[in-house]
Amino acid sequence: MFSIATASEKAMSEKYIELWKSIDMDIEKHNILLNALGQFYGSIYLPQKNRPQKMDYFNWVVSEVHGGRIKELNDQRALGKKVVGAFCVYAPEELVFAAGANMVGLCGGADFSVPDAEAVLPRNLCPLIKSFYGFRLNRTCPYFQSSDLVVGETTCDGKKKVYELLSELIPTYVIEIPHRPDTQQGKEFWHKEVEAFKIKLEEVTGNKITAEGLKASIELINNKRKALKRLSDLRAHSPSPISGLDGLLINQISFMDDPKRFTEKVNNLCDELEQRVKDGVGVAAKNAPRIIVAGCPMAVPNWKLHSIVQATGATIVSEESCVGTRYFTDLVEPKGDSVDELLWAIVEKYSKIPCACFTPNDRRIQSIEALAGQFKADGIIYYTLQNCHDYNVEGVKVDRAMKAKDIPMLKIETDYSMGDAPQIQTRVEAFLEIIAGKKQA
Ligand code: SF4
Ligand code: SF4
Repeated sequence: MFSIATASEKAMSEKYIELWKSIDMDIEKHNILLNALGQFYGSIYLPQKNRPQKMDYFNWVVSEVHGGRIKELNDQRALGKKVVGAFCVYAPEELVFAAGANMVGLCGGADFSVPDAEAVLPRNLCPLIKSFYGFRLNRTCPYFQSSDLVVGETTCDGKKKVYELLSELIPTYVIEIPHRPDTQQGKEFWHKEVEAFKIKLEEVTGNKITAEGLKASIELINNKRKALKRLSDLRAHSPSPISGLDGLLINQISFMDDPKRFTEKVNNLCDELEQRVKDGVGVAAKNAPRIIVAGCPMAVPNWKLHSIVQATGATIVSEESCVGTRYFTDLVEPKGDSVDELLWAIVEKYSKIPCACFTPNDRRIQSIEALAGQFKADGIIYYTLQNCHDYNVEGVKVDRAMKAKDIPMLKIETDYSMGDAPQIQTRVEAFLEIIAGKKQA
């Protein structure tokens, strides 16, 4: 059977060492990371039973995530194609591809880099922020090392301030995001910011963004979002034809893989899942509790909560997250033929993403209520990273809304370490008992 640990430890280290040196990686530290990642993936993902056969592609992507994909990006860089790295779904990837560049999500989901970050940053900061800053400091994220430009955004205070420090280490461009996007002044401001980012991309790449090119990249990314939405809709069936861990993994990979190839592979997987639905094939027991996870994004390799929940026999059917529904729910509607009209279409789409940095953010609460109905959810696990004030505080309103709808909700606040995993497991088990009691009543 496929073994990522073997692939990452032996083949990758030997095959890609020159590549990693060429992008100035810390080879020794990176080897430690690769071994840990391989073992973690091997212990969580590979023992899953009854996985769809088309998950083989995504297993392969993980096995090559620090190798083949990095080679692909750097081969294209050698031909002049730039790489733009990002952390947030507000970075308009349609513009990046229209400028003839690649866009990738940067590492920020692992505890591995947190100690390096804590040597510089305050400890009581969101783990995602510490993780990404640490990855740049310790030179173990090959996506960071391959990026010609990092695009940040003024979403939360922690990120906004750390981008200042990050810019000392790598060229960093920050897009200012209005926090009240439903107002006319908010939209006009955002439009100006998107326009300025377009100019920056043209400078960095040396390519002019044309209406034709922008339309093509809107279609490219819309197709990716449609494929992810198709997968999401299939998970709404009972029994769900794919596990929550696999659903999450595909959402995570969507930020790293080539968008055209990724879309094709997700659609192939969906064909298989449609057949599973017709045949009534699922990955968990028919009466398994159906859980939606709502909250902070889970970047690779943050599989902690999903693996705990899945081990209890429950199924996670959806992630209300930027690594989930918030990424793919809305499309850019390419109205008009001029670059400016298309920039407005981008603003319209992006201002609908209900991040907790917005105020007020009732659209998000409505979307969680709608997802609970669509996915026939038995309960919501509200997931916040420690020191994420936006999602933590917004949890109060979400809790009230779930109580009003009689939907059980459990709030979990955690970081990337595994120290609290037994405690989380106990709380999840108690929550599932509440759900079971409610079903019997
Ligand atoms: S939660 Fe907000 S800040 Fe984080 S990725 Fe999503 S939109 Fe960006
Ligand atoms: S999880 Fe919260 S604190 Fe962390 S980067 Fe995202 S919005 Fe900011």
